[in-house]
Amino acid sequence: MTVTGPIDATDLGFTLMHEHVLISASGLYSSYPALIGPDPEARAIATLRQAKAAGIDSMVDATTFDLGREPELLARVSAASGVHLVNVTGWWLDVPRFMWGVGVNQMAREFIRDIEQGFNGTAVRAGILKCAADFEGVTAPLETMARAVARAHVATGLPIMVHSYPTGQLARRQIAIFQEEGVDLTRVKIDHSNDTTDLEYLQWILDQGCWLGLDRYPGRLVSPTQRTNTLKALIDLGYGERLCPSHDCICLHIHNERADGTLPAHHDFALRNPDGYLYMERHVIPQLESMGVALATIRGLFVDNPRRFFSGD
Ligand SMILES: [Zn+2]
Repeated sequence: MTVTGPIDATDLGFTLMHEHVLISASGLYSSYPALIGPDPEARAIATLRQAKAAGIDSMVDATTFDLGREPELLARVSAASGVHLVNVTGWWLDVPRFMWGVGVNQMAREFIRDIEQGFNGTAVRAGILKCAADFEGVTAPLETMARAVARAHVATGLPIMVHSYPTGQLARRQIAIFQEEGVDLTRVKIDHSNDTTDLEYLQWILDQGCWLGLDRYPGRLVSPTQRTNTLKALIDLGYGERLCPSHDCICLHIHNERADGTLPAHHDFALRNPDGYLYMERHVIPQLESMGVALATIRGLFVDNPRRFFSGD
C-alpha cells in the first residue's frame, strides 16, 4: 500500500527502505510551517524528481505521527515526482503525557484503522508498521507502542520496521516482546543496524529470522566505509537476501536560526549529506562494486529484497 494507493510488490522497483520526506513534530507542519523553510512542498517534489531520474522508484517514508506525518503532502509529492512512497503507522520515540496509561489494544485499534481505512480524515493508508526504542531501552510507554504494533501486525499481516539501538543490543529485548506477542519474525526488519560493526550481534538478529536495515548513510559515529565493510561481510556470510541498505535521509526539516539571526538555506542534516537520497548510488554502490560484489547481488539488495519483504514470499 503506497500513499497513492495499492501497487503490486513487483512494481516497487529500486527501493530505499528507510527514508523521510519530512521530519518535524506532530502538527508542526500545519501550525508553524515557516519553521520548515521556504516552499517545502516544491522542494520535496524537486528532490524526489531528481531521485526518480537517478533510478529510485520507491521509498519507505518512516515518518510516524510523532515525527510529524503529513499524509496528504506525501501523496501530492509522490504523484508529482513519480516516486512510490510507502508510509508507516506506529510510533517513534516521542512520549507525550497521554502515553502513560493508554492501553495496548487501544493503540493497536488506531494503527489498524490507519492501515485499513486511512490516516484520520484522509484516504491515505499505511503500508508498514514501525516501533522504536533507543539508548534508554524499551521504556514502559515505548513497550506499549511495541506491543500495539505487534498486535496490529498479527491482525493485518503488515511487516514491521524497528528503530533500534545496536550499541545497546536493544533488539534482544524488542525481539523478545515480539515473540511474546506471536509476531512472525520473518516479517520484522531491525533498523539502524549499521550503527554497529558487531557482526556477532547482527548475525544473532538474522538467525532469529529478522531482516536488517543497514539504513544509515553516511551516518555518524561509524564511518561510511565501515558501514559498507559490514554490509559486504554480511553478504559474504550468506545473509544478502535479508539486508536493506538505505540512508535515513531527511528532505524537509527544521531550519535552525544562526547566531547572527539569519536562516540558512539548508537544514543541518542536508549539510551533513549533500548527496541526499543519491548518496547510495554515488558512493556506496560503486564501493560495493570495487569490493567485488556482483551487480546482480547489489540489485537484489534494492529490488528483490524490498519486494520479498513486503510480499512475504
Ligand atoms: Zn528514520
